[in-house]
Amino acid sequence: MVEAKRDIRQLSLEEIQEFFVSIGDKAFRAKQVYEWLWKKSAKDFDQMTNISLSTRELLKEKFSINHIKVDEMQRSSDGTIKNAVRLHDGMTVESVLIPTETRITACISSQVGCSLDCHFCATARLKRMRNLNPDEIYDQVVAIKEEGELYFGRSLTNIVYMGMGEPLLNYQNVMESIRKITSPEGLGMSPKRITLSTVGIPKMIMRMADEDMKFNLAVSLHSAIDETRSKVMPINEKSDLNELAESLNYWYQKTNRKITFEYVVWKGINDDERHAHALAKYCGRVASKVNLIEYNPIDDGMFQQADPEKIDMYERILGDKGIIVNVRRSRGKDIDAACGQLANKL
Ligand code: SAH
Repeated sequence: MVEAKRDIRQLSLEEIQEFFVSIGDKAFRAKQVYEWLWKKSAKDFDQMTNISLSTRELLKEKFSINHIKVDEMQRSSDGTIKNAVRLHDGMTVESVLIPTETRITACISSQVGCSLDCHFCATARLKRMRNLNPDEIYDQVVAIKEEGELYFGRSLTNIVYMGMGEPLLNYQNVMESIRKITSPEGLGMSPKRITLSTVGIPKMIMRMADEDMKFNLAVSLHSAIDETRSKVMPINEKSDLNELAESLNYWYQKTNRKITFEYVVWKGINDDERHAHALAKYCGRVASKVNLIEYNPIDDGMFQQADPEKIDMYERILGDKGIIVNVRRSRGKDIDAACGQLANKL
């Protein structure tokens, strides 16, 4: 039987050093290989031109590089690009490049499917198949960085963990990917340009606050009333808004970074003054700002975007309390690349 090759990117620099020493080569060779793997995102060993041919052959015998492949790319009329990304085991996730005048943002996935059951989200219809590895998350960023340079002549400026999956349910791998993205040995990006979006799992938010990396946190809130939130996001039954606020305050204490609440206003669900006042009150408890995001329909109409006057009402009530509110328009809707629409339909 042929022994399965190890994915070399699962190895640390030290482990690659050990490998080279074990074959009687110099330890510094490891550093060169490591640089090819991460900083230069080599897709195969033959790209490693400063490594001798015989060493490259040996590496090929022992290891694989399980790089992702962009299977298909769709471009929206507004410039947004959606990648269908094939993983080494044949599974697929999606990632999105969102261009604006000043930014190129990569929206990346952390899991194949999702185990949560937010009723308004298309990804929830796919059950969770598996977690992504740190390198699979990293590769999505690299693919979008290359597309930004190729199609827009601009560098990547921001990364949002807002694609498929719940990042805090793939905690270790997501943290490792952020470590690689921010490391000078990887992409050297500032953590200030990274935002992790979560349904809000208090235990994991506390744990994350204790990490040494200071990136931004966004929480999908959608209602500051437990009864309503539990109806649309069943996860709220496990840990309520009170517990969530406590964990967010701990996060703020540790990081000094305001939390962004993502919030969709739906017709007949949370589009009344009671809900708007509850949100204003909640924001008074947690150092935060609010992004009112447009609803992207995924089905037959159980959820509908609220009327524009209702959005104005929210803006007024929050504004009166001095809370920062941004109204966000959707991007990439025509290619199902907008928030909550990622469902591997390509
Ligand atoms: N699991 C993470 C990240 C993925 S969702 C999270 O929940 O935050 C990214 C954002 O899109 C979340 O704020 C989510 O609430 C929102 N979203 C999901 N479905 C949507 C839809 N149909 N229309 C608009 N936003 C949606």
